[in-house]
Amino acid sequence: MPLNLLIIEDLPHDAELMALRLEEEGLEPQWQRVQTEADYLAGLESHPDLILCDWHLPRFSGQQALELLKERGLDIPFIIVSGGIGEEAAIDALRRGASDYVLKDHPVRLGEAVRQALEQRRLRCEHAQVQERLRLAERAFQNTAEGIMVTDANASILSANPAFELVTGYSAEEALGRNPRFLQSGRHPPAFYRGMWTTLMEAGHWRGEIWNRRKNGEVYPQWLTISVVRDGAGRITHFVGVFSDISNIKQAQEQINFLAHHDALTRLPNRTLFRDRLAHTLAQDRQRQKTVAILFVDLDRFKTVNDTLGHRLGDDLLLEVSRRMREAVRVGDTLARVGGDEFALLLEDDAGARDAADAVTLARKLLKLLASPMSISGHQLVVTASIGIGLYPDDGGDSDTLIGRAERAMYEAKQQGRNNFQFFTQSLTAGAFERLVMENALRNAVERDELVLHYQPQVELASGRLAGLEALVRWQHPELGLVTPGRFIGLAEEIGVIADIGAWVLRSACRQLAVWDAQGVQVPRVSVNLSVRQIDREGLVALVAETIGESRLASGRLELEVTESMLIGDPEHSRSILIGLKELGAELAVDDFGTGYSSLAYLKLLPLDRLKIDQSFVRDISRDKNDEAIVRAIIALADNLGLETVAEGVEQIHQADFLKREGCGLAQGYLYSRPLPAAELEAQWEEEQAHVGSAPRVQRIDSSSRH
Ligand code: C2E
Ligand code: MG
Ligand code: MG
Repeated sequence: MPLNLLIIEDLPHDAELMALRLEEEGLEPQWQRVQTEADYLAGLESHPDLILCDWHLPRFSGQQALELLKERGLDIPFIIVSGGIGEEAAIDALRRGASDYVLKDHPVRLGEAVRQALEQRRLRCEHAQVQERLRLAERAFQNTAEGIMVTDANASILSANPAFELVTGYSAEEALGRNPRFLQSGRHPPAFYRGMWTTLMEAGHWRGEIWNRRKNGEVYPQWLTISVVRDGAGRITHFVGVFSDISNIKQAQEQINFLAHHDALTRLPNRTLFRDRLAHTLAQDRQRQKTVAILFVDLDRFKTVNDTLGHRLGDDLLLEVSRRMREAVRVGDTLARVGGDEFALLLEDDAGARDAADAVTLARKLLKLLASPMSISGHQLVVTASIGIGLYPDDGGDSDTLIGRAERAMYEAKQQGRNNFQFFTQSLTAGAFERLVMENALRNAVERDELVLHYQPQVELASGRLAGLEALVRWQHPELGLVTPGRFIGLAEEIGVIADIGAWVLRSACRQLAVWDAQGVQVPRVSVNLSVRQIDREGLVALVAETIGESRLASGRLELEVTESMLIGDPEHSRSILIGLKELGAELAVDDFGTGYSSLAYLKLLPLDRLKIDQSFVRDISRDKNDEAIVRAIIALADNLGLETVAEGVEQIHQADFLKREGCGLAQGYLYSRPLPAAELEAQWEEEQAHVGSAPRVQRIDSSSRH
């Protein structure tokens, strides 16, 4: 490589000798000789690699040259080559920045001196570069927004920058010497950190999102890069962790996510999220083979409200509607606003999706909740809704189809006059879904204490005195209202809850009788209806025994009603049970007598007390001679068997007159009283007693039917 030389020398020959000397040393000098200040300064412009300088010059001096060099801050090796500089001057020159000096009469040293000066300059350059790099690195370390920590090979923190302090809340001092583990949030399982270390060791770095904890306890997400630093021999010397706090980014992300999936007004899930959730549920329930129900709710005439009262009010109304709907749904259900005035519901709970019966219950509840007037900005508004119900898998196998079908059902509900709900499924007739609703609710009726007993008096036709009360069960359902036994007893038998209901009725009736006894109200007897399924079951006798015992009822106070059809299935079995009941002191009546096919011979074998003439015969007394004949025959038959007769469904006084004439002992029907709750009966008796001042008689309430 050529060596660019600037030689300050008044003698051309000496300069040549210097160059020659260097050539001999294997260097490639390209040189230029100057002897005035002006030429020297011009020469410096060409960036020489080295300056060789004679100390004493006629028009310039080495000392000046050196000073000018330093003034300009140039780092160019400066070697004095002089005839006789003198030791003192030489030392002074070296002090001022000269690299070396060589005596002209000892030129052998020149090559060596040049080499050394060049090498030193190279080292100086390198050092300056390193310094500069370090300076920059330090500045970056101090000023970067990213937290940085450096640890030694044992993961003990050696340094931490200001951003580290800012993000973690720990000062560098507090962090020094500790293992970065103290920053952990506890949100990641040990496997996470094991994976991190494996990657770090294998790839030399790890990069990812991690939750850490600030000094104030706050858990935050950071984006972290850890790098391994190794020495020349490949040994780990340090780890460098660089991280940034990404909570803001996360928050923004979450917000975007929320906005993309929710309705801005009501903050309910939007159509997109609803579809996702539904698809998710369907995917799960496809495996579980469950029914999924969705409701599509559309407000009736919302557009009119919006157009006449303004959008502001329309919005307020929607908010109130969504608030009410939220109230109606269960945790786990998805309530979404899928359009202007359209809402959708996905019924789901921990146990998975809920079915058609739940959908009906909810639809009813929603209609009811919405129907009560809303007070919005001083306006009293009533909104109703039309609801369509879609069922998976009957109505569709995927979310879009299902939503579409529920929507179609909603239009059907509009067609049907609004403010109602409809199923999409054709097969779900009104009866079928009522059954569905009831079935579900009935299972819990006893537990939820929804059953009530009404009592209907039986009256001695001859004296008008109270002979007993028949206990008739009713189901007080929160949405269906008071349900009569004709609508649920059959179902209860089918789904196997009749035993519970029967036991409840028996117990309640007996307790009530005991209460009346304690109050001094004279009710001679209470009758309880038995279901065929109860007769079938073992344990009926034990149940009755327990119940009678519990209420300490004397013999003859409890009557059990059975129907003919119950007895003929397994006559022997039925007979033994009836005998068992009779032995307990219970009385036995055959309910709805005349409608069954029991044989007289068989009836004779049973320990019966009464026959209840079915109301269908009583109804047509004086209109149908045939029925009158049947009633007469039943009374005669009962007489024959030594049984008392009870006429059911007596509504009119002429029926009572006929029955009395024919020798029927007891009568029961609206003519005397409808079945009533105990409290109402008591109130009636009290009133009666006040009038008559005698033992309870039964007031005729249905006076309009008297003629
Ligand atoms: P039932 O034992 O023949 O009861 C008489 C039914 O006739 C009652 O209907 C009663 O309200 C009605 N009734 C009474 N007087 C009149 C009247 O003057 N005119 C008319 N049209 N009807 C009258 P309810 O309460 O609906 O009971 C229907 C049936 O349900 C009962 O018929 C009985 O078979 C059954 N049932 C009622 N309670 C129970 C119960 O606790 N257990 C069981 N297994 N069955 C019950
Ligand atoms: Mg009865
Ligand atoms: Mg009856």
